Amino acid sequence: MNKQKKRRKREKKVQTAKKPVFVIIAGTAVALGLACLLIKGILPEGRGDVVETGTNLVFGDSYDMETVPEEHREAVEQADRLAKAYDYDSAIALIQGIDGFENDLELQIKINTYKLMKATCVPVNINEVTHVFYHTLVVEPKRAFANQDKDFQAVGNNQWMTTMDEFKKITQEMYDRGYVLVGLHDLIDSSVDENGDMVYQPATIMLPPGKKAYVLSQDDLSYYHSYDNYGYAAKLILDEKGKVTCEYIKEDGTIVTGAYDVVPILDEFIEEHPDASYRGAKGTIALTGYNGILGYRTDNSYLDINGDISHAKKDWLKEHPDFDMRKERTEAKKVADAMKEGGWEFASHTWGHIRIGDVNLARLMSDTQKWHENVEPLVGKTDTIIFAHGQDLGNWGNYNENDVKFRYLKEQGFHVFCNVDGGQYRTWFGKDYLRQGRRNLDGYRLYYNAVGKQDNVSDLFDAAEIIDALRPPVPPLGK
Ligand SMILES: [Zn+2]
Repeated sequence: MNKQKKRRKREKKVQTAKKPVFVIIAGTAVALGLACLLIKGILPEGRGDVVETGTNLVFGDSYDMETVPEEHREAVEQADRLAKAYDYDSAIALIQGIDGFENDLELQIKINTYKLMKATCVPVNINEVTHVFYHTLVVEPKRAFANQDKDFQAVGNNQWMTTMDEFKKITQEMYDRGYVLVGLHDLIDSSVDENGDMVYQPATIMLPPGKKAYVLSQDDLSYYHSYDNYGYAAKLILDEKGKVTCEYIKEDGTIVTGAYDVVPILDEFIEEHPDASYRGAKGTIALTGYNGILGYRTDNSYLDINGDISHAKKDWLKEHPDFDMRKERTEAKKVADAMKEGGWEFASHTWGHIRIGDVNLARLMSDTQKWHENVEPLVGKTDTIIFAHGQDLGNWGNYNENDVKFRYLKEQGFHVFCNVDGGQYRTWFGKDYLRQGRRNLDGYRLYYNAVGKQDNVSDLFDAAEIIDALRPPVPPLGK
């Protein structure tokens, strides 16, 4: 869809000339294809290594970049990177952009290799794409989980939050098991019918055999005031290279920067493992607005310290007499822009974290207007709403087209609706919308799987291997 096109467009066009090319591949068809090339004597002598690696396609292990002239390396590496990210057409186009590629045997082999790899791919069953989600990651478990017996917030941290260590292990384990991150919008093929109405259908995603697609989202990435001093990052910022990273305030008050939350950790992982993501897709960030976004206090409500605002906001304003809303918004937008550029998408989580099933239409309307006023100008328009509290507008299947709240949300431009669902996967295409259930990979889920009281994550990882040694027993929900 648009997203993919945009991602492809972002790839730099680089001119280069010919040079050796390498070819290490797996998958029976590819191996067979290469064997044919070898038999025909097409592959240059000594460079025809074909390595079986199960379903993993490996390039470059014996591709000696040292033999590629400096000025051409970037293009060759970039083409391999595109192919690793399953974008074979762009990889081919890149090689075909090189002057004289038609007469360069090695570049021809490169193109054929990409074609063979593309030919091995099989369509993903969109209805079986699992969707996992997280909240803000716990950086220091000892701060987040202390005083379980008397601190209500610490119990919530333990139930709803995943630690950095757990997230890293899960990401690695899912990658090792062949999971490939796809974008929420990669699932959708939207078109317009003869009446001019929008029609949503499952899109086609092609991956090598054995690979499994998954979607990821992260909720409440606002760094709420209530997270202060509990060992979470404080905000997302850009480093000197313009990359998204985190600011973290240590217990002694020292401020450090680094990858302390989902966004920069996953960015780094995909940078290192391009085949972990389909064409550079990242996750969807679900944002409320009432405490601002991404750690910036961007909401209108902060403008009046005497207004009807929470004690936390008043306290924060008192501690920050130099507060400048325009500056906060400018900084937040810079980070949001960099995230979008890096493949992240944004969704509404409703401005006030409201219960969509319980609220009346008037409340939904005023809340949505606040989202449009305070969040949308910073992250751009979105067609996605990730409901808070796991509530939904109706039972699974088609929504009731006469439901006033559903009709209102569609009028407001929402066509993708996600809830929370413990099942392995749940995807539903309405006429002009997508619904998807999401699995919470949080402390509650990890703990009850690790101790053998639940079994609903074993398709992704072994919870006993993942769970943080510093996590105390997780109390049952409602306690
Ligand atoms: Zn939430």
